Amino acid sequence: MISLHGLTKEFPGGVRAVDALDLEIADGEFFALLGPSGCGKTTLLRTVAGLETATSGRIVIGSADVTALPPGRRDVAMVFQDYALFPHMDVTANIAYPLRVKKVGRAEREAKAAETAARLGLAELLARRPGQLSGGQQQRVALARAIACHPAAFLFDEPLSNLDARMRLEARTFLKRLQRELAVTTVFVTHDQGEALAMADRIAVMSAGRIRQVGTPSEVFQRPADTFVASFIGSTPMNLLPGVVKDGTVRVAGAVLPAPPSLADGEEVVYGLRPEYMDLSATAREDGFAGRVSVVENLGTSFLVTVEDDDHLVQAVVPEDAEPSPGDAAWAVPRHARALFYRDGRLVGG
Ligand code: ATP
Repeated sequence: MISLHGLTKEFPGGVRAVDALDLEIADGEFFALLGPSGCGKTTLLRTVAGLETATSGRIVIGSADVTALPPGRRDVAMVFQDYALFPHMDVTANIAYPLRVKKVGRAEREAKAAETAARLGLAELLARRPGQLSGGQQQRVALARAIACHPAAFLFDEPLSNLDARMRLEARTFLKRLQRELAVTTVFVTHDQGEALAMADRIAVMSAGRIRQVGTPSEVFQRPADTFVASFIGSTPMNLLPGVVKDGTVRVAGAVLPAPPSLADGEEVVYGLRPEYMDLSATAREDGFAGRVSVVENLGTSFLVTVEDDDHLVQAVVPEDAEPSPGDAAWAVPRHARALFYRDGRLVGG
């Protein structure tokens, strides 16, 4: 288990990269730190690893307060974005390096390195140097090095970012399966929401050094706690439109839509709906956003359709057999049960 209590990291010049964070990560959990560039995720991970000193707050790993301990005594293994392999050492020596630092005998560390390498499909490559390996193989050597020393936790900083799109997908599945098998608490940093949704048991969405929401992938996807999370999560951004509550309905860009009873008459809200939950109608609907199809993007098995009028723009994901043409009149009709309502940026209904 990893718990953070009021953890703050301030750099000289007053940049608060991590701002009074509280977080509990369960034993064996696969946990993602997700957020845009500069939100503080790498600094948070490096502070947990001991590579940065906390300005204030506490870090507890297992039952030990490690806040003041050097990295080598925290019992964590970090895998960096660039893998940080030693170019002059072969695969065996790279994997065995942390064991050598721990003064494990040569025979034992080589056996351990060979066993871990075999597990990661590297058995044929033990004598090669990093320069003779593909990006995916280098990544697996870096993972093997982390695994070989049996840490209490793994910390991964963007471990897939050096791989091409196809290898990334393979590596996702591989990493998820490996983490399941090892059942070691793992925290990984990513700015890729798809990666976080696909791999993590839970996700913390960060912005400006703070956590905006912690939840399972389906919680953050289905019920984003605020409009920042709503616009950050999802492969196509959520439709977010201003509306006003009136007589038990909400009036949004000319459409009259059902409002939850908790909202008061006259209240101003932001109406949120994922494009995946928006259907298109070719005939007029009072509960639809009227406009014309302006852009149709092919997503492979579906289309992302943009419907615009002078004062609003909404997007819908429609099945491949329903491809509309640019210029068509269209009504984008929400699946009402999926609608979310935000007041002052915070989720208040839906
Ligand atoms: P990215 O995805 O781009 O790596 P990130 O979310 O990991 O971004 P951090 O690298 O943790 O963000 O940076 C958080 C903030 O702290 C940024 O504003 C950054 O400029 C600042 N920062 C990071 N390292 C230092 C440093 N050594 N000195 C001063 N400021 C720093």
